[in-house]
Order: sequence, then structure tokens, then C-alpha cells
Amino acid sequence: MSVREIFTSMEYGPAPESAAEAQSWLHRHDATLQHLIAGEWTPPDSGEYFDTRNPATGEVLARVADGNAVDVDRAVNAAANALDGWVALGGHGRARYLYALARHIQKNSRLFAVLESLDNGKPIRESRDIDIPLVARHFYYHAGWAQLMVAEFPGYRQIGVVGQIIPWNFPLLMLAWKVAPALAMGNTVVLKPAEFTSSTAVLFAEMCTQIGLPAGVFNLVLGDHKAGQALTVHPRVGKLAFTGSTEVGRILRKATAGSGKKLTLELGGKSPFLVFEDSDLDSVVEGLVDAIWFNQGQVCCAGSRLLVQESIADVLHEKIRKRMAKLVVGDSLDKSVDIGALIDSSQLERVTQMVELGVSEGARKWQPQCTLPDKGCYYPPTLLTEVQPSATLAQEEIFGPVLVSMSFRTPAEAVQLANNSRYGLAASVWTENINLALDIAPQIKAGSVWINCTNVFDAAAGFGGYRESGFGREGGREGLYEYIKPLWEDQLSAGPVQALPLMDGLGVPAGVVDHEAAPQIDRTPKLYIGGKQVRPDGGYSTAAMDAAGRVIAEIPVGNRKDIRNAVEAARAAVGSATGWSGTTAHNRAQVIYYIAENLNVRGEEFVRRIMQLSGKDQADARSELELCIERIYTYAALSDKYDSRVHATPYRNVTLAMKEALGVIGIVAPEEAGLLGFISTVMPAIAMGNAVVVVPSQHYALLATDFYQVLDTSDLPGGVVNIVTGNQDVLAEVLARHYDIEGLWYWGTREGSKMVEEHAAASMKRTWVNYGKFHDWENPAQGQGEVFLRKATEIKNIWIPYGE
Ligand code: NDP
Repeated sequence: MSVREIFTSMEYGPAPESAAEAQSWLHRHDATLQHLIAGEWTPPDSGEYFDTRNPATGEVLARVADGNAVDVDRAVNAAANALDGWVALGGHGRARYLYALARHIQKNSRLFAVLESLDNGKPIRESRDIDIPLVARHFYYHAGWAQLMVAEFPGYRQIGVVGQIIPWNFPLLMLAWKVAPALAMGNTVVLKPAEFTSSTAVLFAEMCTQIGLPAGVFNLVLGDHKAGQALTVHPRVGKLAFTGSTEVGRILRKATAGSGKKLTLELGGKSPFLVFEDSDLDSVVEGLVDAIWFNQGQVCCAGSRLLVQESIADVLHEKIRKRMAKLVVGDSLDKSVDIGALIDSSQLERVTQMVELGVSEGARKWQPQCTLPDKGCYYPPTLLTEVQPSATLAQEEIFGPVLVSMSFRTPAEAVQLANNSRYGLAASVWTENINLALDIAPQIKAGSVWINCTNVFDAAAGFGGYRESGFGREGGREGLYEYIKPLWEDQLSAGPVQALPLMDGLGVPAGVVDHEAAPQIDRTPKLYIGGKQVRPDGGYSTAAMDAAGRVIAEIPVGNRKDIRNAVEAARAAVGSATGWSGTTAHNRAQVIYYIAENLNVRGEEFVRRIMQLSGKDQADARSELELCIERIYTYAALSDKYDSRVHATPYRNVTLAMKEALGVIGIVAPEEAGLLGFISTVMPAIAMGNAVVVVPSQHYALLATDFYQVLDTSDLPGGVVNIVTGNQDVLAEVLARHYDIEGLWYWGTREGSKMVEEHAAASMKRTWVNYGKFHDWENPAQGQGEVFLRKATEIKNIWIPYGE
């Protein structure tokens, strides 16, 4: 036999990893997994347990405590009791604990890896070489942030008790992504793992006790969705972090609406894997193995949608089939296995049904002749071609080892197809042309873009979604903001700081304009949409009153159609690579300085209007105007200074953390704060490249309609600022329900804030609401600054490997 024949005929022999240590750990726990509450192993209040199984064999591994609301309440109270002590330890004290956890995880890494594979069904190669090293890395990295918190985040504090709910696909890794930053920033934690995968969370909890982490700092409540629901609505939980399905993410958004709980959601995806014709196809094929057959495809950011340039589609498909034929499916503890078991029979059934549906919709299925083990939840690697972009399988998450392929002709079409999804978690771009790659990456709506690589993660780089893939980032500096809050939020007032005038002439019917009080030459205020003054669709107006309550003009009453038109105009303004978002920050700065200049030119007119509407004397009105001009200068200045960074990830690559405009932001401006409220909310949004649809203060609407004349003379492209006057809460609801808006900022009532958060759940738009509290807009700490810019942007991490 020749050497060549030996190589080509070599069979994989099983290389089993021993489960002995993991089994004896389970044995030490009597194969019974309990909650950890206030540092004590605690049986469930209900006395009920359920079985957890090894998906590779179907055998029962352990009994798991079935947590309920009583258990959650105990755990939250324990976390609340531990909070002061944990905060008092200071950054350095906390860093020592996090460092100890990192070391302890490393020292027990094989036990963690084997237990994870037993519980989840993932190949030991992956849990050993990817999951557990990344877990340790997260604790090391965040030990550093604990140490640096005071110096790096002045003016911020911990949130308090954090509730965390994680899925089963990366049980310990998701725990680390959530627990490490939360503890580093001085919060205490109650974590609920998925019902299928509690084992490594219990082992981690044991490590917490072994390193002497103060009791109650980390609490673990096991169980199913009942425990998750109780954690979601617990009043002492200040922040909720969730990873899982978009469906449950939506439930959580609604359940927490109006509560003031901070929320981050890391949800599903249908991530595109774009292959251009000049790609190195052998590397592409290996990339695909990592993209869709890693963790059996049960990966939120799996490259499940292959988009291949038409000219190379057949060649690539052939290479993929050849590679698929070599993938080994089998027991998770076999070191030579590529694809392990799906998590549970319910998931196996779901994947099977989805593939059948795809075939019934016209897709062509290909699976290699591979032998699947007799027992356990196995599904063969699958390629589906001839899939239409509108097909269910091109749009819905399968969460299994199933690749769906479509083709494109031009780069523009590739971008269009890539973005033809309600999700936006990740994307992978393959080409040997770096110019093309760097042109495509910013155009894709996704939180992570991997160039010539895929599924690369690190603690130093934020991970999270656009669109219905959720909001918030985990990892990196950007991820820490999810676990802290600015101190000024504690100072927000229960009553208005800039009070509305007390109008003693109230009750004058609309339409009776007091010409004595009116400006000498009356102007008819209109809506401002797409850079044009337009009449309201409904043809209604409402009275605008001066500070004494006299009617001085009529203000158009915008409706749903006006909002729709304004959103369309805003979308057109940001929708293309050459639009407002795509223009250089330098250009935006120039336009914004010009706005300030033109406002200054018309200063006297605005001073009179402020006096007329607010009742302020001339000096106060002038100082409001000056503050507005100064604030516009601030955002012009920040346009090209709030810039991106390069994260220090431990690979041979550059990880660009690019700040990108959200897109279209609806703004319901503070009613009481006049021109200053309007400027303070609109300027940061447009400075970052967004287009806005703003509903100005009802009482001060005339200042907004005067202001569009300033915009008209300032070279601001039409559609970047759209102004729709009318009833704020009515229009806020229209904005909240709108599907083509990425963000909504609302300064209004407590009930209005709840309404906004509830309706925003449908499209997963990012919301920023005031829960009925009031900013002091004159105070720069509350009226301007980095928080506004952060709310106006998303961070996209673009990974660019280097070296031959
Ligand atoms: P879920 O979203 O249902 O579960 C995620 C976590 O949320 C689990 O801990 C779950 O608990 C908990 N949970 C479920 N319902 C509620 C609720 N009403 N309130 C609070 N917590 C709740 O995902 P599944 O595990 O059911 O998987 C279903 C699908 O979701 C998969 O097929 C896949 O498409 C997607 N998915 C996406 C993930 C991602 O990373 N983006 C991860 C996992 C799944 P319990 O498991 O105990 O019920």
C-alpha cells in the first residue's frame, strides 16, 4: 500500500475522552443539582426536580432543582443584601476575586469541558479548545476592568442586582459573558441557566464558594421558564440580561416595559456568509465548517445563509459537498468528532421539520452518506440549494447543522440580500480584495462582521445585534456600559426643572388668533418633511399660545400619515452609502457649525419668540439662545471626535469597533424645555449621522417651526431633520409602532414611557425613555454629553485577520 493510499483510506478511530472525573463530580453531588442562594446549596421551594440528560446518549445525568418565584425571591434578596459589601470592596478587591475565578476555571478546565460536553452534546474538541478558554479569558479581562473602573468610568456607578437568563447552546460561555462584566462593575447577580444545561453553572457556583466569593454576590437559581419569568418581573432586579430566542426576548421587553429596568437582549440571527468570486475557496470551505457545523449549528451567529457569487456557485457547492462527506458525526466525548448531538429531541424534531418545510418550498437537499449513532439526538450536516430569498429557510433561524445557499451577481446585490433579514447579528465576508471587503462591511446591518474568518469571539470585543437580533453589547468596553449607570440619572427630578409658563388665558378656543400678540407679519407654521414645508395630511391645526395663554398662531396637527411620510424622508436621507450616515464626520461637523451660525444670525428673532412663549425676560431668553448655540457647537465638535477604536483581541488581526449611526431615530422632545430641549435632543442624533423625525414640545412648537428656516439655510440635506408637530403621546405611539425606525427617544410621562417600550418590542427598536422624570437641560451633566452619543450609535466589530 502506498503512503497516498494509506492517507486516503484512513478511517477515524474513536478517541474517547474519559468522563470519570465529571461522573465522580456528579456523584459527589448525589447527581442532584441545587440552587446556590446566599452561598448555600438550597433545595427548591417546590421540592420538585426534573431530569437532565446527556443528548449524545439519552442517559439521565442528574436531577435539577425546579425553581419557582419563591426561590427567585430568596436569591434576589440575597443578592441585594450582598450588594453594599461588594461595592465597598472597591475595584481592586473585586478584581482579586475575578482573577481568582479565572485561575480556578483554568485549573479545572478539563472537568468543565467534559461536563459541558456531557450536558450539552457538543464535541469535546470545541468545549475544550473554544468554550472554556474563552470563559477563563472573560474573567481575566474583566478582572482588569474591575481594577480600572474608577479611573475609566468616572461619574458612573453599579446598577445593583442583575438578573441574567441564558440559553443552552454555550452554557458556561454565556454565563461568563454575563457574570464577569456584571461583577466587575460592582453588581451582584442572580443567574438562571437553561433547563437543559445546568451542570457547568453549578460547577461554577461551587468554584465561587471555593474561592471565598462573598455569599450572595453570585446566586444561581435552576429551573425552567417559570424561574425566568419570576426573575424578569422581580422589583428588586435593576437590570436584566437575556440571551435566547427573539420570541422570548420580545416577551421580556414587554414584561419590563415602564419598570425602569435596564435590559439587554442577545437574540437570534440568520447571519449571511458572503463569498465573492475572488475568494480562496478552500479557506471558504473551512470557514463554512466553523460557521455552520460548529456546535451543530446551534449558534446564534451561525453563518447559516451562504450567499455566493453566481460565477463560482457550482464550484463552491461541489467543494462543500466533498468536505461535508468527511465530517464525522458522533458522541460528544469522542475527540475526533466534528459534529455532536443536538441539545434535545425537541430540537431535533424542530430542525427535521424545518428542513422538510424547506424542501416542500422548493429547496434541494443534500446530505452526505454518514453513519449516525443509534441513540441520541443527531442530525446530519445538510446543504440546501435553490433556495429563494423569500423562502422560510432563508428567513427563519433553523438552529441546526443546516446550510442554506443562494447566489448573487454584483456586490450591491450581495449587500441587499445580506440585509434582507429581520435579524442583524453577524456576517462573514470572503474576498481576497481588502478594498471590497472594507466597502461591504459597513453596509451590512450586523453587530459583528468577520472578514475572511468567522465565529471569532473575544472578551475585548463587543458582541450583539442590530434589528431583531436584540440590543446591547457583551464584551469590550462597550459591554460595560450595560452594567453601569451615570450618576446624574439619580439626580433626575420628579417635577419639571424648566417649568412651563402658568397660562392665565387658558381656555381661548383654537382659531381665535390674538393679532395684538401675534408677530407683525404672520407666518403659517407647517410640518417640515424631506426638507420641505408641508401641510398636515389631516388638515387640522391647534392653537399655539403665548406665555399668558393668548392664542398667537395655529400649529399643524400631524397624524399617522405625516409620520409615515417623515420616516420615508428620513430613511431616504440615510439609506444610501452617500447619504447623511455615509458622509464624512468632517462634513457633518461643517453643516452643524453652519446651523449654529445661522441660528446666531437670527438670534434676536428667537430671543423674542422664547420670551413670547416662555415668559422669560430678555436676559434669560438670550441666555437660553446662547446655550443652544453653544450646545450645537459641542455636537459639531463631537461629530468627528466621538470616534471608533481598535480592540486588542489576542489574535493576528485588527478588530475595529466602529461606531455607526442607528439610522432613523424618532424623538419626542421634552415638553417643558423649549428650544433648548429641541436642540439638546436633535443635535447629538444628527451629529452621529442619524436622520430624525422629531415631535417637538407642543407648547413650544413655534420655536421648532421657526427653526426649520434655520435648517433650510444651513446646507442640511432634506430629510435629515423632519418635524411633525401635534399631540406628543399620539405621535409617540405611531413612532413606537413603526417598523422602519431604529431608535425612539421619548421625554414624556411615565405611562408614555411604558407605552413606548411595550410597542417597541415588535420591531425591537432601541428606546430611550425618561419614565416621567425630568432632566435639567441647562445642566451640561444632564443635558448633553457622551450618553446622548452612545444612544445615537451602535458598535459594529469588524474583524480583519492579517498575515499569510
Ligand atoms: P428560549 O429563548 O426559550 O430560552 C432561553 C432562556 O430563557 C432559557 O433559560 C429559558 O428557560 C428562558 N425562558 C424561556 N421562556 C422564558 C420566559 N417567558 N421568561 C423568562 N425566561 C424564559 O430558547 P429555547 O431554549 O427554547 O430555544 C428555542 C429557539 O431559540 C432555538 O431553536 C433557537 O432558534 C433560539 N435560540 C437562540 C439562542 C441565541 O443564542 N440567540 C440561544 C438558544 C436558543 P428554559 O430553557 O429553562 O425554558
